[in-house]
Amino acid sequence: MEIDGRAIAATLTAGTAAQVSALAAEGKTPKVGILVATEDESTAYYVRSIVRAAERAGIAAEVVSLAESASTEDLEAACLQLANDPSFHGIIAQTPFPDGVDARRVTQAIPVAKDVDGATPESSGRLMHGLPAFAPATAQAVIEILKAEQVELRGSRVVVVGRSLVVGKPLGMLLLAEDATVTMCHSRTRDLEGVCREGDIVVAAVGRAKLIGDGHIRDGAVVIDVGTNATEAGLVGDVDFDAVKDRASKITPVPGGVGPVTTACLLRNIVIAAAAN
Ligand code: NAP
Repeated sequence: MEIDGRAIAATLTAGTAAQVSALAAEGKTPKVGILVATEDESTAYYVRSIVRAAERAGIAAEVVSLAESASTEDLEAACLQLANDPSFHGIIAQTPFPDGVDARRVTQAIPVAKDVDGATPESSGRLMHGLPAFAPATAQAVIEILKAEQVELRGSRVVVVGRSLVVGKPLGMLLLAEDATVTMCHSRTRDLEGVCREGDIVVAAVGRAKLIGDGHIRDGAVVIDVGTNATEAGLVGDVDFDAVKDRASKITPVPGGVGPVTTACLLRNIVIAAAAN
């Protein structure tokens, strides 16, 4: 069965819009600042889509554009300006950063309370300790999808392919908090097919078009495809959808799966941050 990410996102965003209305009654408009220092077209497209979705939900979004020649100090100063401006409730420092920029120093300028995409080392540490913090929206989206589809997490074996700071690692933490048994795979994993076949749930977050095929998925497994790869045939995921769809009990498509739910989680985080500050 194909999972409808857009429908899950719409339900989440309806709840967010209701919270925005409640805040408006108090005279508060949630506002996010998005720091961009790249001319990369796919990043620009992603940022535009966030701004549009935010505005549709009644959230103000301001893009702060820096030159591709911006230094660590320039980006840090721009983050600090948003951090010290009480009209901004959330800050997103959009990657990729210019070559040579120290990403950790830049993200560290974002206070945890405004770190709506869980990018800072402090938010990651808090996540690991089970303390309140925003997890990266993509990792949250995977959990939201599994819950919306009523997939049992407790005791289930989940194989996550990819160990990045934005997806794989925080997702591992969120899954452990749901009492799943988690296996994390990466580029050095031996026998990826065999390890994936042990998964009741397989999450692909790699960035390699159609890496996960028929041989990776056991009958009846749930497959969540985080990957977004621009190819000549358009946007494709990390999973070979056609090869896997009949074997999987549930599977997310690309596009229309994790992407819209990620945006919905980001919007929700901005509104939670606004309500708290
Ligand atoms: P990333 O930082 O490049 O990390 C990729 C991970 O995949 C790494 O851990 C890497 O292993 C692992 N890997 C690479 N080749 C592999 C292979 N052949 N076998 C097994 N593991 C392999 O990527 P990311 O930022 O996590 O993004 C992953 C994908 O998700 C991309 O397609 C990205 O566009 C997409 N994405 C989508 C959303 C959304 O909202 N839908 C949001 C964020 C990202 P090593 O650690 O060993 O290098």
